[in-house]
Amino acid sequence: MTKRAGIFGIVSILGLFALLHIGFANDEISPRALGATLVGGIAFLLMATSIFLATRPSVLEDAFGGLDRMYQVHKTCGVIATILVLVHFFASPKEIPEGIVATADVTFPSSPLGMAGMILLVVLVIVTLNRKIAYHRWRMPHKLMGVVFVLIVAHFMTAPEFFFDRFGPSGLLLILAGIVGILSYGYSMFGMNRASAKTYVIDAVNKMERATEVVLSPIGDALQFKPGQFAFVEVKGDGFSEPHPFTISSAPDEDKLRFTIKVLGDWTRKVREELTPGLEVDVRGPYGRFDTSHADNKQVWIAGGIGVTPFLSTIRGLKDGDDREIYLVYAVREGAEALFFDELREKLTMMPNMKLILLESNNGEFCKVEKIKEKLGTSMTSFDYFLCGPRVMTSSIIKDLKSEGVAANKIHTEAFEFR
Ligand SMILES: Cc1cc2nc3c(=O)[nH]c(=O)nc-3n(C[C@H](O)[C@H](O)[C@H](O)COP(=O)(O)OP(=O)(O)OC[C@H]3O[C@@H](n4cnc5c(N)ncnc54)[C@H](O)[C@@H]3O)c2cc1C
Repeated sequence: MTKRAGIFGIVSILGLFALLHIGFANDEISPRALGATLVGGIAFLLMATSIFLATRPSVLEDAFGGLDRMYQVHKTCGVIATILVLVHFFASPKEIPEGIVATADVTFPSSPLGMAGMILLVVLVIVTLNRKIAYHRWRMPHKLMGVVFVLIVAHFMTAPEFFFDRFGPSGLLLILAGIVGILSYGYSMFGMNRASAKTYVIDAVNKMERATEVVLSPIGDALQFKPGQFAFVEVKGDGFSEPHPFTISSAPDEDKLRFTIKVLGDWTRKVREELTPGLEVDVRGPYGRFDTSHADNKQVWIAGGIGVTPFLSTIRGLKDGDDREIYLVYAVREGAEALFFDELREKLTMMPNMKLILLESNNGEFCKVEKIKEKLGTSMTSFDYFLCGPRVMTSSIIKDLKSEGVAANKIHTEAFEFR
């Protein structure tokens, strides 16, 4: 399945709606009203899609190329839906068509419901796109998006029939989307995805230079995962409210599950300062498609700082006889920051075709394609590239790799953020 199958699926549903809406349109509807309802219906479908994707349906990960990409589509659908809601509002005819008795309540309660939904939507999108708001403060208003959806469902279900035949083919598609959206919202709000969590107990909390390693033992069934995958971690302790995503840094065949966590904000600081052995932790997953085993045998892995975690799991799980030609480029500010460096070096010296390249920016060795090219000493186009690190670093490397002629399908990334 290609990474674009999910997008293709969404576009197909929108196309089907447009065909049904135009094809079965009432002869008496004005072109303006038809256009406005078409745009409104597309906005509605995009909102339902966005809410559905927020339930993290792991069965669709292949169709989107991983949960991180699914979240990007979730965000894009939300933003486009908001723009279309505004277009729908301004394009909708404000007069009642001829022949309809213009009583005061003909557009009531549809109009005020739609207006309330639109205002709340715009406010929440502005909040959602504000990256300065801390995640735990951002999360609650973001969840109110479901309330917007309910208001817009109510707006649609009470819309006057001369404006939209909701029991016609396109209307029935919207009713179905409304049901999916509301069920998805309930599923996310009431934490029903928690049912699939595996419970672990903390064995050790190891403080390292600028990171904390948390070691867990399963209480019941252990999580089955592949190297490079991540999970949502929820600590059952005071103040450790919401689940946070972390890449699993242990190998799949280890008895223990390990996460390596850099202090970035309140939650990760609390992990370092207050987490103690004996506490229970729910782990939900696995998610992600950052899988080096499906690519060609010549690979360059580029890790920026804490972005080494998916490679840690992969390297810890390497088996004798793995003869792939792999370069791990590990970019840090200074050597002391390179987590598990001795372990990585030892493991890679045992593998015949694998090399570790440490780049320390404090020594003037910046992680740039030019530098990597110099270290490889061979053509760059024959390799597959796996990148995990700060967005500024990965996006500039991707741009330069493409300028070097590396095909887009040979570049694989893992984003450490969903917002
Ligand atoms: C797929 C994935 C894998 C990751 N793997 C690792 C890893 O192996 N090691 C590591 O140190 N970090 C990893 N991260 C980043 C880690 O999740 C954040 O650093 C952490 O959640 C920050 O929380 P905070 O409250 O301390 O910081 P904040 O300052 O509150 O958050 C910083 C940023 O982290 C993200 N974030 C915060 N809370 C959440 C949440 N509950 N759910 C989703 N995103 C959130 C947001 O983008 C936010 O802007 C990963 C992130 C993702 C998406």
